Amino acid sequence: MLFRQLFDPDTWLYIGKGTETLLFRQLFDPVTCSYTYLVADGETKTAALIDPVLEQVERDFRLLNELGLSLQFCLETHTHGDHTSGTGKLRELTECEGVVPDHAPAAYADRRIRDGEILRVGDIQICAIETCGHTDSHMAYRINDTHVLTGDALLIRGCGRTDLRGGDAGTLYDRVTQRLFTLPEDTLVYPAHDYWGQTVSTIGEEKRWNPRFANKRREDFIQFMAALKLPDSQTMMEAVPANEQRGRLGWRARSQSA
Ligand code: FE
Repeated sequence: MLFRQLFDPDTWLYIGKGTETLLFRQLFDPVTCSYTYLVADGETKTAALIDPVLEQVERDFRLLNELGLSLQFCLETHTHGDHTSGTGKLRELTECEGVVPDHAPAAYADRRIRDGEILRVGDIQICAIETCGHTDSHMAYRINDTHVLTGDALLIRGCGRTDLRGGDAGTLYDRVTQRLFTLPEDTLVYPAHDYWGQTVSTIGEEKRWNPRFANKRREDFIQFMAALKLPDSQTMMEAVPANEQRGRLGWRARSQSA
């Protein structure tokens, strides 16, 4: 069963064949247009949050309690430039471990995850896929064989910028085309941000319709990304140092600085 929802982030999204114990929820931060994902095993009641946002920790913590879930991991896809991670706060409120990509500049990570490594949340498997290029330490997370959380490597009909903090357009093109577009076409794509109200896509859709990659050669993509000339994000000045210390600072900002 494929069930697609358009912008009502507080309802269950997808429970289907092969995912009977998977509880999956997409949560939205309207200030930074960031998505946080709750992935849980409905049988064991263990859970992971991917890319929690500091200002939404109260919401996320309440939801965990209401659903009777025990938070095992907070995972980051990368060191965010546009918001402070909620991991530090959630770690104070729960027994969870903070997990960051290998080589990510996060001073207080409990654990670093490598390409191909699998975390288990009950019967749910979360497999890390190295997808650098937006930053130089970025992981996508494949949930069982049905969902992939693509961070800022692949957005719906777009991708994260490559001009800041270790970004490299050629690397991003290689990782998206070789590591993500090689997944089964019906894999559900859930990005870390969306600025246009889109919530979910599939690998097949993005291969065909993502204007940055579809029928684009590597050189075309590099040229396109260089020509974007995006403004420097003021929030980067605050968010990156805060996230390197794993979400110990807080502020609000409005920015499209995925
Ligand atoms: Fe980002």
